[in-house]
Amino acid sequence: MYKQVSQIIKSRKMEIMPGRAINAPLPSDEIDETRLSPFILLHHFGPFEVNYLNKFAFEPHPHRGFDAVTILFEGALRHRDSTGGKGSLSSGDVQWMTAGSGILHEESQPDEFLEKGGIVHGIQLWINIPKANKMHDPRYQDIRSNDIPVITGVGTIERVIAGTYKDKTGPAATFTPITAVHGKISKGAKLVCSIAELYNSLIYVTLGNVTIGGKPAGASELAYLSNEGKDIEITADEDSEFLLLSGEPINEPVVQYGPFVMNTMGEIKQAFLDYREGKFGELN
Ligand code: MN
Repeated sequence: MYKQVSQIIKSRKMEIMPGRAINAPLPSDEIDETRLSPFILLHHFGPFEVNYLNKFAFEPHPHRGFDAVTILFEGALRHRDSTGGKGSLSSGDVQWMTAGSGILHEESQPDEFLEKGGIVHGIQLWINIPKANKMHDPRYQDIRSNDIPVITGVGTIERVIAGTYKDKTGPAATFTPITAVHGKISKGAKLVCSIAELYNSLIYVTLGNVTIGGKPAGASELAYLSNEGKDIEITADEDSEFLLLSGEPINEPVVQYGPFVMNTMGEIKQAFLDYREGKFGELN
């Protein structure tokens, strides 16, 4: 049985910093959050030109209670955090960060990249974690492009970032079962995605124009799939790329406020209190 596209969600344009509008399909008013669980937020930035005069940088800010995932399609990203962790990502790399009990971090581009200037294009994804793991120690998984298993077909490439998909297993460690696949399809090519039944699943188009399960979806549109069924066919009307996400829903209350994702308002208040009292550490 095939999955169906039950809804196409268009991105909101969001000016995340002066002069930088990103695509924000999630969260969305058009779909109930329980149908998206464990996925909370999806921000698609670029492709845009970045240089010394026009950076794409985030000042130090806190997070608690979820996994923040950065998938960098193109460009460079440098990070630094309150646990003493630091590193950088290049084209094709993924950073799977567990904010857990609390982290303070900043993101920017390496100086060498800013000097030359270049294109930055990627995804920021927030994935909820169960109550039992929310206060886990913060951790980073820096996943290099070379360590991501690739499935190739005629005019198609699928990179398995997390979960088991078509007999390949992605390197990301997750708290609940999640499949994350970055796909590329050449114009005229066809791909059948195989997705766990009854998980919440979506396909977000990052570039080009595709037809998913018979329904057209363009860049910055998100196809929300029916829970029932396994496979879904994607054909490309032009060279296209997408992100496939599928996950077991976490059936717990969610309270998201600013940079925190907890189960109750009391826990959100506690997060703000702990942050103000300096319990998230500091960036030197
Ligand atoms: Mn952040």
